[in-house]
Amino acid sequence: MADFVIIGAGQCGARAAMALREQGFEGRITLVGDERHLPYERPPLSKQHMLVSEGALPPFIADGAAFAERGITVVTNDAAAQINRDSRTVRLASGRTLPYDKLLLATGAAPRRLPATEGLEHVFYLRTHDDAARLSGRLTPGSHLAIIGAGFIGLELAASARKRGLEVTVIEALPRILMRAVPEAIAEKVQVLHEANGISILRGFGIERLTGSADGVNLTLADGTVVNADMLVVGIGAQPRVELAAQAGLTIENGIAVDQSLQTSDPTIFAAGDCCSFPYDGRRIRLEAWRSAQDQGAHAAASMLGDTRPYEAVPWFWSDQFDYTLQIAGLADKAVSAVRRDIGDDAFILFHLAENGRLVSASGWGPGNRIAKDIRLAEMLIAKHATPDSSELTSPSVNLKSLLPRG
Ligand SMILES: Cc1cc2nc3c(=O)[nH]c(=O)nc-3n(C[C@H](O)[C@H](O)[C@H](O)COP(=O)(O)OP(=O)(O)OC[C@H]3O[C@@H](n4cnc5c(N)ncnc54)[C@H](O)[C@@H]3O)c2cc1C
Repeated sequence: MADFVIIGAGQCGARAAMALREQGFEGRITLVGDERHLPYERPPLSKQHMLVSEGALPPFIADGAAFAERGITVVTNDAAAQINRDSRTVRLASGRTLPYDKLLLATGAAPRRLPATEGLEHVFYLRTHDDAARLSGRLTPGSHLAIIGAGFIGLELAASARKRGLEVTVIEALPRILMRAVPEAIAEKVQVLHEANGISILRGFGIERLTGSADGVNLTLADGTVVNADMLVVGIGAQPRVELAAQAGLTIENGIAVDQSLQTSDPTIFAAGDCCSFPYDGRRIRLEAWRSAQDQGAHAAASMLGDTRPYEAVPWFWSDQFDYTLQIAGLADKAVSAVRRDIGDDAFILFHLAENGRLVSASGWGPGNRIAKDIRLAEMLIAKHATPDSSELTSPSVNLKSLLPRG
């Protein structure tokens, strides 16, 4: 009987395990996770999950019975420590050895750490349910939370903490928030919304000094501003967890490098989710996004079963900030121009076009679910390499569906 082992019992690993069964695999499946919980969803950790104080269970993807019914063995609280490619075995930290015929690496990413914070009591990072539980227990109304990094996680957390009645200061070294992935027009809206809700955002200056005390953290910014907070969360991005793959001699290129079928430089080993970099539209990219972790999990399962179809899904990401949602489909790095479609209720979409007129990305901002339909259609236009007319994109009376190329 064939043995398939999946390392990393997160979003992608859990999806891959389920998909292997859905796609008819009848061999053994072992899903190995180093966390003490069954696989759970991460996006709620900075959002609704942060609104409840201690004691909440993780937002599980499936319960133990669902894995057992499908004959999937889930190993928790045990890390894969070494891959031996010659003997096709994985050694776990507990000493157990698992043989494999095919192996999937779905090890995710870990928060980038700020060396100055090491060993400080009131400093937190947010990636796991246990991180969230520790932090949530500290969010008492009236206390002061400082957050370094105005990226998605930092800002979502700022909104949640503010809803719980904390004083919140976000510190961003770059000149504007969400600089890495979000167009300026949307970042400005996000900033205005946060400030209107009483969050203080300090931009453009790095941290000159960071010290801990018995009851908090003291920060001095490069312009001399002093921030004294009861606790600090560092949200300065994440790094792919590649150590295991690197030790095994697999190719690493901003993540575990895979080809279009998510196969690594070893034909028996695949990688998917936040830990991998993969070819997309003429370049190699790495994403940290819920849906690509899901889709790549299912795709890797198919590839492990011999399907050679390329993974070509359009990247898609969302973030919730107070009662607003931001969504991005595609990647805007190849864009040379952008046009705007205002769709009412303070919602709008920016369409990003490449030099040849091809739509390469769409970013939207609006209350509730207002932008969802247009972004979904934009995603289809991007997938079909459409070259829509700018005047039609900007006109809210034109249904984007009508711009989809036929066939
Ligand atoms: C707080 C938060 C909010 C987010 N919000 C959004 C959002 O709004 N929208 C969005 O699109 N995305 C969001 N994301 C990103 C999304 O959750 C990730 O892209 C997704 O979880 C990636 O799935 P993954 O399975 O690749 O990695 P992970 O979910 O990180 O799972 C990897 C698992 O592998 C384990 N592991 C690593 N190494 C080993 C080893 N050697 N042995 C055993 N186990 C190992 C890890 O501990 C982890 O449990 C958010 C992420 C966080 C942290």
